[in-house]
Amino acid sequence: MTDWFRENLHATVTQSFARTNTVYAGDTDFQRVEIFDNEVLGRVMALDGIVQTTEKDEFIYHEMLVHVPAFAHGDMRNVLIVGGGDGGALREVLRHPVDRVTVVDIDGQVIDLSKKFMPGLSAGGFEDARANVIVGDGVKFVNETDERFDVVIIDSTDPVGPGEGLFTRAFYQRCAAILAARGVVITQNGVPFLQSDELRRTSQRFVGVFQHFGFYVIAVPTYYGGFMALGWGSNGLDISRPLTPEVSRRIDAAGLQTRYYNSAIHHGAFALPQYIRALIDAESATLTL
Ligand code: SAM
Repeated sequence: MTDWFRENLHATVTQSFARTNTVYAGDTDFQRVEIFDNEVLGRVMALDGIVQTTEKDEFIYHEMLVHVPAFAHGDMRNVLIVGGGDGGALREVLRHPVDRVTVVDIDGQVIDLSKKFMPGLSAGGFEDARANVIVGDGVKFVNETDERFDVVIIDSTDPVGPGEGLFTRAFYQRCAAILAARGVVITQNGVPFLQSDELRRTSQRFVGVFQHFGFYVIAVPTYYGGFMALGWGSNGLDISRPLTPEVSRRIDAAGLQTRYYNSAIHHGAFALPQYIRALIDAESATLTL
């Protein structure tokens, strides 16, 4: 009989994954961690019954979370990742010539289990000399840090449980305050078709915090429900502007081997369907495409 893992994210629709092997299942101080194998998706990690990442399609999310702000900014030296304990975002940041990347995840066990059971995600990133890994609450960290960051990536769980504090206006205000000039914040905003309130609320909370803000979209098969939205906000850089020849040259010159990201995708990701535009505070947001 097939052993089904049923995701516990939406109230009225769900997706299931056939488990060929349970690699790990246990409770940390913060959440339930389940790691299992699926024939098509490879190894899968779920937190509190919600799929976070799979070996097969994690590259889409992690490349787009990192390379869009990195190339739009052009001189990303100091980076903060809040959450991201699986190490996928860290791996992609380290492909850029950064001086330092700080990862703050509340759950040290997610970091350890990812390193042990899904080593391809961080690809040794946690041991890189440029990585500064802190086990602690991201809200506390942004409230207390004196550092300034070129890019802040909120690679969070959904806004339930420990991740809830990473979706408040007060948190976004602190993120804005710790940005260097031309700095940009990137947020994970769920799948708007099924989580419309999440996008609507984030959009409302960005108003007055960021002079420039908006959303771009990615298609990740295991984040069921169509496009996932990633948010961005800045007080010095409008990353939604049509890709300039300078940014395109930057992308070409870097010559990164990617599997989703390229300059056309970078540009096109800012084109939003009407049903997503309708959820955004269009008066305030920077929607140029
Ligand atoms: N790619 C994923 C997604 O969108 O489904 C996100 C993955 S990542 C594993 C999410 C991480 O956020 C988890 O490791 C969790 O421990 C961390 N997290 C949740 N709340 C946090 C907080 N308040 N401060 C820092 N990290 C937090």
